[in-house]
Amino acid sequence: MQLNYIANAAVASASGRTIPVIDPSDGQPFDELQRSNAQDIDTAVRAARECHGAVWGKLSAAERGRLMMRLSLKIADHIEELTALEQRDCGKPTKQARADAVALARYFEFYAGACDKLTGETIPYQDGYSVFTWREPHGVTGHVIPWNYPMQIFGRSVGGALAAGNCCVVKPAEDACLSLLRVAALAAEAGFPAGAINIVTGYGHEVGDALARHPGIDHISFTGSPGVGTLIQQAAAERHCPVTLELGGKSPQILFADADLDAALPVVINAIVQNAGQTCSAGSRVLIEQSIYEPVLERLGQAFANLRVGPAAMDLDLGPLIRASQQQRVWDFLSDAQVANIPMVAQGQIVDEAPDSGFYQAPTLLRDVPVDHRIAQEEVFGPVLAAMAFRDEDHAVELANATQFGLVAGVWTRDGSRQFRMARRVRSGQVFVNNYGAGGGVELPFGGVKSSGHGREKGFEALYGFTTLKTVAIKHS
Ligand code: NAP
Ligand code: MG
Repeated sequence: MQLNYIANAAVASASGRTIPVIDPSDGQPFDELQRSNAQDIDTAVRAARECHGAVWGKLSAAERGRLMMRLSLKIADHIEELTALEQRDCGKPTKQARADAVALARYFEFYAGACDKLTGETIPYQDGYSVFTWREPHGVTGHVIPWNYPMQIFGRSVGGALAAGNCCVVKPAEDACLSLLRVAALAAEAGFPAGAINIVTGYGHEVGDALARHPGIDHISFTGSPGVGTLIQQAAAERHCPVTLELGGKSPQILFADADLDAALPVVINAIVQNAGQTCSAGSRVLIEQSIYEPVLERLGQAFANLRVGPAAMDLDLGPLIRASQQQRVWDFLSDAQVANIPMVAQGQIVDEAPDSGFYQAPTLLRDVPVDHRIAQEEVFGPVLAAMAFRDEDHAVELANATQFGLVAGVWTRDGSRQFRMARRVRSGQVFVNNYGAGGGVELPFGGVKSSGHGREKGFEALYGFTTLKTVAIKHS
């Protein structure tokens, strides 16, 4: 039985209710979580406020940094344990689960080093004045985390908030809590004061909503779907609480005829196959210049047909999807594609060892997807790649920008001028040229435009969002 983690103690929910923990590889329950309620959120917020006022807020930046580095090293010592927990809880192939644990350690390392580098500025003003700015923490920050990359998103969001001097209340997705509960316990072992990191599990519409509405929360960092992002922002607006919204994407990979295809195609495939396509920055559309459309589709099709899907522990190209409703969501998209006569180029294989009760989906490559079809517009959040042809650079830009999203884009071309032009013309929070994702990019500011959200996490930039700026003007006669 898993318990909440509040003020460095494992505690049961006031509700007395639980939620089963399901293994996506076989669809079977194997543990239980607390189904917490608003009272538990209140307890956690009080613990965080007390810690902020009495301990965390009084530590020097260097002391905060040392604690965070200790946690990073602790996580690094527990990579295999965290990998195993995540693999069972979320159905991630071993290499993906391990990469997430390693990234978590790296986020705490990065933000440990950033704590004492966050400075204000002095501002030249009139004679007789000294004017300067302080970056102050908000106080207590709320973090609503999705199920697709719990460790990575916890690392970037909670890591940044702690570094900036906040105490945190975290609501993970009910499908992905085990690794984070363990990390909170590791933080206590590393010497974090009681109340700096609190984790309350439960359903979004219950505890997530209570967190967003709690008057003791001074900033909310939400990562998840655009629809829930709207609800969070509405709840926060009631009390003018600042929010960072990291929402979805329909990110394009744009292949020009002069691209190095040997370098590009494995990256294009990985960008939709990784984590079974359940990635906000998945490259879910591939835009291909007309003159290379057929040969590229042929190569992509062959690669897709060779992809294998199976239980997480088999560590194949893809594991299962997170849950049955996600599998149903992908099926609905694919059946809509079929009704619209969108041609399927190829599908990977689900291995015989995959139990029927698991949530498996073969990776699927579709071609000639009309720009206004929902497969080209909405997040499938599964391993489905939509291919489209473009005539020229203007057409590529038009297609790239033709969705409500703007999170990430990949541009593949050897033409240096075009690299810069495309980077300017594509509307998204990140543009990668001749690569995609830059190895995870702990250091690289990340976030969206349009319905992909606002505010930035990752990198040093995130610290500005986790602080509020105070301007001090002193008149010295
Ligand atoms: P989701 O359904 O929006 O859930 C995200 C989180 O919000 C979960 O913890 C969920 O809790 C909670 N929640 C649900 N309803 C809520 C409510 N009424 N009030 C407060 N919280 C609520 O998203 P998901 O299906 O977990 O994740 C997939 C989505 O996240 C995709 O759209 C993906 O693109 C996006 N995402 C974005 C980024 C990014 O950095 N831009 C990164 C990863 C994922 P429960 O699940 O426990 O109900
Ligand atoms: Mg699970």
